[in-house]
Amino acid sequence: MQKKTLTKLSILSVLLLSFAAVLPARAEVSKDDPKPGSFFDGSSAAPAAISEAAKTAAAKKMGGAGPLADDDRYWVILTAPDKAARQRIVDAGVSIENVSAGKVAGVATPKALEKLAELGIRVEKKTALRSISTEDFPNSDQVYHNHARMESELKSIASSNQGLASVFAIGKGWQGRSILALRLNTTEQGSKPSQKPGAVFMGAHHAREHLSVETPLLIARWIVDNRDRADVKKLLETRDVYFIPMVNPDGAEYDIATGSYRWQRKNMRKNPGGSIGVDLNRNFGWGWGGAGSSGDQSSDIYHGPSAFSEPETQAVRDFLSARPNIKTLISFHSFSELVLYPWGGQDDPISDPRALKAYKAMAAKMAKWNGYTPQQSSDLYVATGDTCDWAWGEKKIFSFTFELTPRSQWAGGFYPGPDVIGPTVQKNIEPVLYMIGLADDPYRAADEGASELDSVPSLGVVK
Ligand SMILES: [Zn+2]
Repeated sequence: MQKKTLTKLSILSVLLLSFAAVLPARAEVSKDDPKPGSFFDGSSAAPAAISEAAKTAAAKKMGGAGPLADDDRYWVILTAPDKAARQRIVDAGVSIENVSAGKVAGVATPKALEKLAELGIRVEKKTALRSISTEDFPNSDQVYHNHARMESELKSIASSNQGLASVFAIGKGWQGRSILALRLNTTEQGSKPSQKPGAVFMGAHHAREHLSVETPLLIARWIVDNRDRADVKKLLETRDVYFIPMVNPDGAEYDIATGSYRWQRKNMRKNPGGSIGVDLNRNFGWGWGGAGSSGDQSSDIYHGPSAFSEPETQAVRDFLSARPNIKTLISFHSFSELVLYPWGGQDDPISDPRALKAYKAMAAKMAKWNGYTPQQSSDLYVATGDTCDWAWGEKKIFSFTFELTPRSQWAGGFYPGPDVIGPTVQKNIEPVLYMIGLADDPYRAADEGASELDSVPSLGVVK
């Protein structure tokens, strides 16, 4: 961070303290200043826990022209007083990335903006993605794992933990990159079936959510490094555990391929209309194509031509279908700091009272460990076709979506910098161990009670 820029940002931050908008307005900034006006300057809305270094690192990444030069999408702030309004917005094809009092922020195509206009939904701020751009997994974020470094880390874990850890591919993306799984099992290796209760932890259904790769990857590393700890040892001897840190490797690579972030969410399908990608977390075959997903190919929440049309979702489906011993699942995403449980695709709660009680107890317990907010996924808005609805609906796997750090885009959004990795991994170790432990009978969580969840207020979002 250059001192000059830092000063500008500090002044800007002071100016922005009086604005209630979710994001600072570019219009407030002199046109000849290439850097400020980023989403991440910091403001009164920024949680105190976010370091200045993380904020300035994130702000730095948001300046200048770059790989988004041809991108026609907008970062928008919209008036949305209630859930019904949020639903209209998401149904218009906007990917809502954050919710605050009376407003939402997200990514919209020109087509979605037209729909919003037709619906009379007010756009409070609109910033072309091509005007913000980024610099790099650039030097400042080199600690994050791209596909090659992730593969080498998984293989290193396997080679130094023979008889416990093995690596195999569950499928490939359109561009041929392997979707890799690390398995921890003291008796079975590779893709051999196991009778032991199983748990699976996935990351990066969404390309730009790189922290969701680091979290399962580094927790796997932590587990093997602590394999002799009594509690960990017992879990490893009695469970069948999988980590699939990068479900969308092609998209993740595309997001960083130029050394600058592209804000890619989807996979790399070439759509007939010329746009790229399907939203993998709208492509699963449970309620597919319904509310909260878009038929517009260019939308960030495009559900694809049919349920399970994508090789990545097929890989996850086939992986889970072949392993009926798997009973618990976490799909890591970012950001907003939430612990979400089904349903996402309908307003109604899970109908089985014992399962619902177990879900609430599990969510409350895990949220205590990581400090996130537990809630039913559709409390924010209804979104169909996600991983967890399918895994629960079709397989009765107890499935959670974790929205990782930060809590808001003020604190770095999708690109919060390297400082958050350690703390995020640390606070999610207990939830992961807990889910592994419960895999023999997740319903027993119901006996732990769920009353503490009922009083927890809801917050912001991204699924
Ligand atoms: Zn996501």
